[in-house]
Parts: sequence; structure tokens; C-alpha cells
Amino acid sequence: MKIRFLGPLDRVTGSCSWLVDEAAGVQFLVDCGTMQSEPGEREWNSGAFPFDPSALDFVLLTHPHQDHYGLIPRLVEAGFSGPVYCTHETAEITRIGLEDAARFRDARFSEETIPRIRFVTPSGGKFNEPHDVGKGIAVRMYRTGHTLGAVSFRVRWECGGQGKTVTFSGDIGSAPAGREHMPIIGHSLVPTPAHFAVVESTYGDATRDPSEKDFEARLERLTAVIDRATLERSGVLVIPSFATERAQNLLYDISVIYARNPKKYLDVPVYLDAPMASKINKVYAQRIDSHHAYEPGGDACGWFNRRLPDWLGTGSFDEVMAGLKAVLSRGRKHSNHDDDPVEYPERIHQVIGSDNEESFRNMRHALMQGDRPAIVLTSSGMCEGGRVLSYLERLLPLEKTTILFPGYVSRRALGGRILEFADIPFEERRSLDGELEWDVQPNGSCGHRVRMPRRAVKAHIERIGGYSGHADQSDLLDWVFRRDDLMPLVAPHLFLVHGSTGSRHALRDAITARAATRHDAAGNIEPLRVDLPTDPDRWFDLDQGEWE
Ligand SMILES: [Zn+2]
Repeated sequence: MKIRFLGPLDRVTGSCSWLVDEAAGVQFLVDCGTMQSEPGEREWNSGAFPFDPSALDFVLLTHPHQDHYGLIPRLVEAGFSGPVYCTHETAEITRIGLEDAARFRDARFSEETIPRIRFVTPSGGKFNEPHDVGKGIAVRMYRTGHTLGAVSFRVRWECGGQGKTVTFSGDIGSAPAGREHMPIIGHSLVPTPAHFAVVESTYGDATRDPSEKDFEARLERLTAVIDRATLERSGVLVIPSFATERAQNLLYDISVIYARNPKKYLDVPVYLDAPMASKINKVYAQRIDSHHAYEPGGDACGWFNRRLPDWLGTGSFDEVMAGLKAVLSRGRKHSNHDDDPVEYPERIHQVIGSDNEESFRNMRHALMQGDRPAIVLTSSGMCEGGRVLSYLERLLPLEKTTILFPGYVSRRALGGRILEFADIPFEERRSLDGELEWDVQPNGSCGHRVRMPRRAVKAHIERIGGYSGHADQSDLLDWVFRRDDLMPLVAPHLFLVHGSTGSRHALRDAITARAATRHDAAGNIEPLRVDLPTDPDRWFDLDQGEWE
């Protein structure tokens, strides 16, 4: 078995590894995603594949983010007809994401291709259960806590009569067991050790402040922004948000803030104006308590963060689950108990449907006047498409408006150019040169171009931490070292991908420093090798353990 690390190397989008076992006559990919707002984007997204898609046996898809699934329709159009192995949840959210992407003029595939993608869930969706995918290869999945549906894959193949294994981390999210801090999804599971592991390193150089990993501290920061934007300024708070995981976490946090202070926010309605996020909410509501049979330790486990009832101060799992589902599915209280410790607000509205429906047009028109307090969660998170573009056109020039970025935004995206204003005092904005430019395309139709002088931007621009779905350095170390330094680690030979040069070097240094402190009972240091692939054309022979 040999592997080429096609991407991302020194980038964070466009995930794809290509594996070939000539002896077994098998080849496959792990993820096949689009590159987003990074150098080389056009060549990666539209150029020829370095492999023959019709010769691939299958694809392993770690999770439903576009930078991991986005090029799969192009694979199918180029002749790939094998299964795409992933969880049920990843399959459903990926379909929704692709249907949304296909509506746009610059879509690189036809909508008719989407039903031709053959999603197959290994082991019925159970974690850590081997599933035979043919030609002597078996795969297992482990939840990563990054999004609903997100897993790591451990692949086993035969080499000279022995089993060899490689684990692909996918994107690693929430902290280890007992230290979860995001609202919805549970901790990352610890994969069984393998010979090799391909590990993401997006935040390999970052250590988050402990307050970013704390339910109450995160809620306090969000409450402060909501109060400033809606109660003090009486304006609209626009939160550009990714449709998978970020939108659900924000919506849930807002519902908790409202439930704790029902009277305070009586005049501040909340709108989720992002059709794709609303569809994905439904998948979350349906699937969040689906139980998988196995977790190391013996407990049944699904996707749900089991620390949530403790945090909310209610002991009942069922009550919290009912409330969470209510927020995600309709934004209405479902429970019949009057004495619920947590009440869910009636004022969360999800806007599902066409832009042309009159009630939505009226609602949006009223919001865009910007003179009444409201919270609008809308997409896209980077402000590169979606309904946020219309809100920005109307609301950026108004002083009452607040735009809140709940996480990373690429500097190359419109969101990144707007975020620069967070550090520009109002009195300096009047003398700014240049323009912000973007196209507004409601429902993917041809729209119009907005040219806004930078000096016209009067809105308050804020950012807030604590919503990243990515592990930081200490979380990545916990994953690599399998939580608490129990030997052995996830694999004795690691490949760091999916991160900038700085992130990958920092993570390598941290891993080797921690490994040097570990020794077995006889005092021997555990062997460890960490590689940072730099050349996407170069093969590594996993059977021989060397670069070709
Ligand atoms: Zn991701």
C-alpha cells in the first residue's frame, strides 16, 4: 500500500489522500474536497485529477464539510462509480450541501449527479467496528466531535500475511471525554492504535485561552454582544455563520440565553435566515440521539454531548434532548411540563423557503431597515455567498448594526475584509480609501454588483471566540497521545497535514517534546517518527515505511 498526500499541504482546505495497493489491485481516496479562499483554488477545484477516477474502488469521507466532500460530484462525472463510505449523518448533510452548491452559476457539477453518488455507511454506523470493504481491506470509524457525522477512519490491509493499519484523523473537534465544551456534539473517541496516522494540524500552533473552553464564559461573551447590539443600540445583530455545526451551536446558545432571561429579550426576535442551515438542523434534530452501540468503556453513545444536562443544571437527559430538538426543528417549546427548568423561547424563527414568498420578503424587508432590535443568523460564514450578502448591502452603512464573526474568516473572503473594520476606530473610517465589492445573487439568479466605499461602513464589527469546531494544540496532543499518556500512542509514525507550515512545525515540536517524556516500565523511550509531507507528487510506501 502506498499513499500520496495530495492536499492540503501548508493549507487548510482541499482535503484528499490517494492510496494504491498494486498487489491487492485496489485504490481509493480519503476525502475529496474543494479548496476555499486559498492560493491555487482554481487549479485544484477545476483542474484535472492526478488519478483516473474510474479506476478508484471507493472513497472514505470523514465529515460533511465542503473542503472534504466538494469534489466528489466531479469524481462521479469523471467515471467514479464506487461507494462513498461515511456515516448516515455525513451522507445526509453532504447531500444537502451539494444540492445547495449546485444552484449556483459557478457550480462545477450538475445537480443530476448528486443522486448518482452512492453513500454507504460501514458497520451500520457503529463506532470501532470493522467493516470489510473488499480486496482484504477493512475500515473502522471513530467519532471526532467536529460536526454531527464526523469520524476518523482506521484502514487495515494485508501485507505479507500480516495486517497493517493507518488512521486518518479527519478534522478533530471537541475536547476529550469529560472536557467537552461545545454545546451539541460529544468528545472525540480514541482510535485503536495503528501503524501510521495522518493527522490534521489546523490549529497545531494555537493554544486557546481556558475561557474559550468553558460553557459559561462563552455564553457570557455572547450575551454581552447581544445586549450591546440589540438592547443598547436597538439595532440588528447579523451573525454570518457556517451551516454545519456553527449555526446549530449558536442557535442553541442563544436559546439558552433567552430561556434564562425570558423577559429581557421579549422584543428581540431571532431569525435563522439560511435555508441550508435549516435543512441541516432537521438532520441534527433527527439524528442527534441516534445511538451507536459501542464506545470504549462499554457505554452506548451517540453524537450528543453528555455534559449538557450538567451544564444546564437539569439532571434529565430526556428533557435536555427534547429542548435541543425543539430549538433545532422549530424553535418552539415541545415539552408539556410547566415546571421545566429550561424553557425554550417562542421567538426563534427559521426561515425555510423561497426568497419569493411574500411573508419572507416582508420579514426581510423589515429587518433590513435596521431600526428594530433583532438577531439574524445567516450564511455563508465567510460572506462569500448566501443571504448574508443582502443583509450586508443594507445594514453595513448603519451605525445601529452589529456584525459578529464567531470564528475564523479568511482574509481573502469578503468576511475577512469586513472583519478588518473591527480594529479601525470610527473617526478613522471617514478617511478610508477603496471599496468593498461583491455580487448579490438571490437564489442563484443573476443579481447585481454592490460597490460600497469603505468609508461608508458604519456598522460595529465584532468577533467572538469559543465556537471553533477544531481542536487546538492541546486537544490534538490528547488525540495523538490517546488522552492520558497511556501507551501506545495513536500510531508510532505520524504524517501532519491540513495546516500551515507554522502550525505543522509547532505541532511536530510539541509532539516530539511530549513523546520524549514517555517511557515504558524498562525506561525505554517509545519510538516515534513525525513526517511533514511537502510534495503532493511523492509516494510514501506504507508497507516498507519509506518515501519512494
Ligand atoms: Zn471540517
